Amino acid sequence: RARIDIEGISVSPDHYIGGQRVSSPDTFETRCPFDWSRKLADMARGDASTADLAARAATAAFPAWAALSASERAACMHRLADLIEANVEKLALIECLDMGMLLESLRLRVILRGAANFRNYADLASGHEERVWSSRGTLNRVIRMPAGPALIITPWNAPFMLSTWKCAPALAAGNTVILKPADWSPLSASLLADLIDEAGFPAGVFNIVQGLGADLGNALVSDPRIKRISFTGSVPTARIIGRAAAENIVPFTAELGGKSALLVFADADLDAAAKKAAGQFDDSGQVCMAGTRIIVEESVAEAFLARFHRHVDQHVMGDSRDPATTMSALIHPVHVERVLGFIARARAAGDTIVRGGQLHQAGANWIEPTLILPRSNDSEVVQNEVFGPVLTFQTFRTEAEGIALANSTPYGLSGIVYTGCAQRAERVGRAVRGGTVWVNTFLVRDLTAPFGGIGISGIGREGGDYALDFHSDLKTLQILEG
Ligand code: ADP
Repeated sequence: RARIDIEGISVSPDHYIGGQRVSSPDTFETRCPFDWSRKLADMARGDASTADLAARAATAAFPAWAALSASERAACMHRLADLIEANVEKLALIECLDMGMLLESLRLRVILRGAANFRNYADLASGHEERVWSSRGTLNRVIRMPAGPALIITPWNAPFMLSTWKCAPALAAGNTVILKPADWSPLSASLLADLIDEAGFPAGVFNIVQGLGADLGNALVSDPRIKRISFTGSVPTARIIGRAAAENIVPFTAELGGKSALLVFADADLDAAAKKAAGQFDDSGQVCMAGTRIIVEESVAEAFLARFHRHVDQHVMGDSRDPATTMSALIHPVHVERVLGFIARARAAGDTIVRGGQLHQAGANWIEPTLILPRSNDSEVVQNEVFGPVLTFQTFRTEAEGIALANSTPYGLSGIVYTGCAQRAERVGRAVRGGTVWVNTFLVRDLTAPFGGIGISGIGREGGDYALDFHSDLKTLQILEG
């Protein structure tokens, strides 16, 4: 089908399979979150036949890609990273219009991080040294063998970052890839397909298909030709995908939601902590790692709240392209309704809405920054991920009480701790349940560190060697010495 022009940027509405653009008879539309009347594109809506075509292409391309050396694969990945860097402005604008994320942060950080994902894994895999040792008269070696076609399913909230983060280790490990981005923000993946083509990946190595979870996603996860599934999204979908993976005995990683604590001790830099708490509203709370449960030592609760409100008051809602905007819109009216539902049920159940709680006049997809004082720790809004601009506020008296509150949900993705005491930083950092715990900072991440969740926040770890291991079949080769 014809390419679409979006503010001078040419975007294909089609899939990218086996090095070709492929269409589908049905379509789905994608709109701009901060200007909802604006339709951006009618995208090809993949179905079971699309899944079949992609699995066939990825399977056919696998042996040759797997047979390349890691440094030959790395050359392709570095070329892709170069192209991402050369196209930062385009990628940033498309992601901003499609997902609503603030343009400034996309231009300066997020898109470049995508390039870094490919560079990091290219270097990591080509610099990998096999473990070799002698024992019981044999020479032992651990060999990482490419596993086969890998299916990568990503959510709508950080499409470019998460797609690159999850596809790079699969490709570096020698697997071919089928990427299915979410249907609420499909466009940056389509631009990525153009760059994959230009980077010279062999046809079928890196495929991108567009569509809905229920039809295309479902067909992909149940395809026996898929040898790895890496998923980021919601808990209910993880259960469905997990069942499909179990049927085919396919390893699967899932990075799911969070309900992370932002724990503030009386000895902390209160203003820094309050500023970070107010910063949880930046993406309207549509961040899985967000510290959405503010838990503050009672003696400084009032002082903290005064500072928090001051910082929240400075938020500006508006067009995400405008550098003055600090808080982006929610992605979709369906999601706005979902978030408003949480607030309405909290109010009805007797939680106190301290601020916000209403639609904001900035536009259809904005909800005011909302702070809720829950009637108890069992409140729905404390125990469930809202994924919107909704924080809860609780207090504690002792360190043990603070840790207990932080650890009192079924989630365990991350944690944020603010304290001025080095010993406490170590002690509480270890005690807070989460795959990642930040102390006196937030979101700073090294790409080689493991990332993932505990409890219903996920299965498995991505990042560094952890993802390379996941995407490989490890073999122990033993040869008799002498
Ligand atoms: P979110 O709440 O973030 O939309 P979802 O889990 O619904 O989370 O979606 C995350 C990704 O999973 C999206 O790409 C979506 O299309 C896909 N997905 C949803 N349902 C299924 C399914 N049954 N099988 C495979 N993928 C699915």
